[in-house]
Amino acid sequence: MMVGVWLLTLLLAAAHAERLFIGDQVLRINVESEEQIKLLQDLETREELELDFWLHPVSTELPVDLRVPRASVSSVTEFLNANNIAFSVLISNLQERLDEEKSEMMENNIMERSSRSFNFGAYHRLETIYDWMDTLVSQYSTVVSKVEIGKSYENRPMYVLKFSTGGNKPAIWIDTGIHSREWVSQATGVWTANQIATDYGTDASVTSLLRSMDIYMLILANPDGYSYTHTNDRMWRKTRSENPSSMCRGVDPNRNWDAGFGGPGASKNPCSDSYHGPSAHSEIEVKNVVNFIKNHGNFKSFISVHAYSQLLMYPYGYSCKNAAHQAELHAIGTAAVQKLTSLYGTRYQVGSICNIIYQASGGSIDWSYDEGIKYSFAFELRDTGRSGFLLPATQIIPTASETWLALKHIIEYVRDHPYY
Ligand SMILES: [Zn+2]
Repeated sequence: MMVGVWLLTLLLAAAHAERLFIGDQVLRINVESEEQIKLLQDLETREELELDFWLHPVSTELPVDLRVPRASVSSVTEFLNANNIAFSVLISNLQERLDEEKSEMMENNIMERSSRSFNFGAYHRLETIYDWMDTLVSQYSTVVSKVEIGKSYENRPMYVLKFSTGGNKPAIWIDTGIHSREWVSQATGVWTANQIATDYGTDASVTSLLRSMDIYMLILANPDGYSYTHTNDRMWRKTRSENPSSMCRGVDPNRNWDAGFGGPGASKNPCSDSYHGPSAHSEIEVKNVVNFIKNHGNFKSFISVHAYSQLLMYPYGYSCKNAAHQAELHAIGTAAVQKLTSLYGTRYQVGSICNIIYQASGGSIDWSYDEGIKYSFAFELRDTGRSGFLLPATQIIPTASETWLALKHIIEYVRDHPYY
């Protein structure tokens, strides 16, 4: 049985030409000076090294994490040593970690098949998540329904789960997985949707919440990218659209919104992981959400969930100016993070995108805020770099559970502070 499964994986990997990361390293640099930031920014422009910055060099307050392909390891370490930039190796051979992740997923698949139950503490493929959505909807049909908001570039349906006790009430938007490789985000979305469905009718707070508000969740906001992380390239972040001017595919769907589009913190280069795309809302996955939110017309909160770094952020990213509701958003964020920390002691930072990370244009929560959705927030979930995008599945349920406390705080605040 096991041999058959392994053989099948090998054949599938070969058929899909799955990208391997043998000998790739992930380095952590605690930047000590502005001069070091400049040097690292120069390093970032050296395309021949094919570096993948998991955390970009922006300030001395934040670490820099970068994936270095095996072929560039010696050039990069020589560069760092020559410039007296201290670093540590977070991951010494990325492929080993990916193999572990994959074999855990396969063991889980076998377990789920034999027990006929869905494991919320495991990572799943798109098809499995879509099947699970149907199960959830049929099991809790009084409170959950599934809405298709359009198709992706590769023609996959985009499903929103609507939690509602009837009618169209003022609503909360939550999306996960807009960046496909941030797997704990989608997994947190799945756990959260199940939590809301099971809490309704048993938990007083969620039950009363759904009497006055609807919650919409888009768990796979970038379905093509997510599918691609399972079949071809675990490190894929963007959409999968073709760029007519380039061999490189995909647009960063969180640089593609009509909010300071094309400004600082987004790239014009189609091969870059932060390529903003040919025009605002060029990506059908973004456009589908924009249309849905606008047609609905009564969203009070827009929450987008990413990983990693343990941050809770509010607008703006495209500018370092204060949002009109800066003080209120900061207070909500601070209280939400206190709730989050109370469960397992996980530390979060709170601030505007520009102040806490860096200036980044074309982001979703800047768009929603400028559309008049005052309570716009973005999370960066666990961890702070030990595992980065490869957060062990054993941390999914703890991550989702603590995040839920913060989400619930925001949602309850929105309910208690209606604005028109
Ligand atoms: Zn992200």
